[in-house]
Amino acid sequence: MTRHHPQTRAVHPSVVAPEGSRPLGVPIYQGHLFAFDDAGDLAAAFDGPDRAFMYSRMSNPTVRSFELAVTELEGGAGALATASGMGAINAVLTALLRSGDHVIAQSSLYGGTYALLRDLADRWGVELTHISGDDPAEVREALRPNTRLLYLETVANPTTHVTDLPAFAGAVRGTGVLTVVDNTFAPLLCRPIEHGVDVVVHSATKFIGGHGDILGGVAVFADPAVHRRVWDHAIELGSTADPFAAWLAVRGLATLPLRMARQSATALDLARRLAAHPSVARVHYPGLIDHPQHELARHLLPDGSGGVLAFELAGGREAGRVFSEAVRLVSLGPSLGNVATLAMHPASTSHRQMDAASLAAAGIGEGTVRLSVGLEHPDDLWADIEQALEKAG
Ligand SMILES: *Cc1c(COP(=O)(O)O)cnc(C)c1O
Repeated sequence: MTRHHPQTRAVHPSVVAPEGSRPLGVPIYQGHLFAFDDAGDLAAAFDGPDRAFMYSRMSNPTVRSFELAVTELEGGAGALATASGMGAINAVLTALLRSGDHVIAQSSLYGGTYALLRDLADRWGVELTHISGDDPAEVREALRPNTRLLYLETVANPTTHVTDLPAFAGAVRGTGVLTVVDNTFAPLLCRPIEHGVDVVVHSATKFIGGHGDILGGVAVFADPAVHRRVWDHAIELGSTADPFAAWLAVRGLATLPLRMARQSATALDLARRLAAHPSVARVHYPGLIDHPQHELARHLLPDGSGGVLAFELAGGREAGRVFSEAVRLVSLGPSLGNVATLAMHPASTSHRQMDAASLAAAGIGEGTVRLSVGLEHPDDLWADIEQALEKAG
């Protein structure tokens, strides 16, 4: 064999594949390209999401490790990892809908999802009906011959409304309508596919990643044919996960059971202490006995109600602003599911343009504060929250 020139050798380094042992952690395959020895094998790689790795927009070993792990955790038939939670939601909705189709969706939705559905209705001719999510009879009333999707969230933001997934999925069973559930607030705590749901979406940016260092999303499918339809479309969309983010996400999964248990326990503890405080008018947390869906939560989320709670300050908008400025250990920030506790007062930040009436329509009070509970010691968190409550009055 002729010895190649240095510039040729420089672009063809040896790639070491382990022999006789295997990596215990998931390796990062950051490259986007895989080369073939056989042209037929390359041709076959175009055939589907489970074929040989070829080009990372279609599939990548690190990304697939994450997809397989989430498939397993959610009890699905396959998964698609994406660059963000909105990437997963967009890929699923735009793959499964066409102009003239009808969608039934809960009205209290993640803001990005609400905006996407509005956009699909305004610009792409998708028909949209919002329901409260309190009663499956609403679905039967809203059903039309062209209904294709029912879109729900396990636990809604910031009201912590819990949706009766078995009853809602049951309401469309046998109609051909697919049920899609955003399970971002309750990974592991709830497995929607076991309750008859067809597609589960997550923002892996939140609890799954858990450490505030990635943007990511994943959709899990009960039916391989639906997985294939969404995968085909996601390739066109280019919403693919980056291997490094997928690697951090799969690493996050290792501690997810511990984090969910601890964050749920601390959230319940803080919810009880907040409920007993004179500055707090009301606490929203499914683990509290007076939560409207407490009984349902005990069945749907038997191992804990998750790490997010909301509370209403008796002093309204001004009290919310003062509370936000007074917290020290708790960080002010819009995300959730992080190892560090985050607080957010919508009326003085994300929703500051809204008056009390439009806030109420969105399920938010002027004094509503959302708390995403992290892994700090509960007593340290309470000490910080309590001193901020004193100032808020
Ligand atoms: C954050 C979030 C999303 C969107 O996820 P990104 O990763 O920010 O795109 C979707 N649904 C819920 C419930 C969320 O909290």
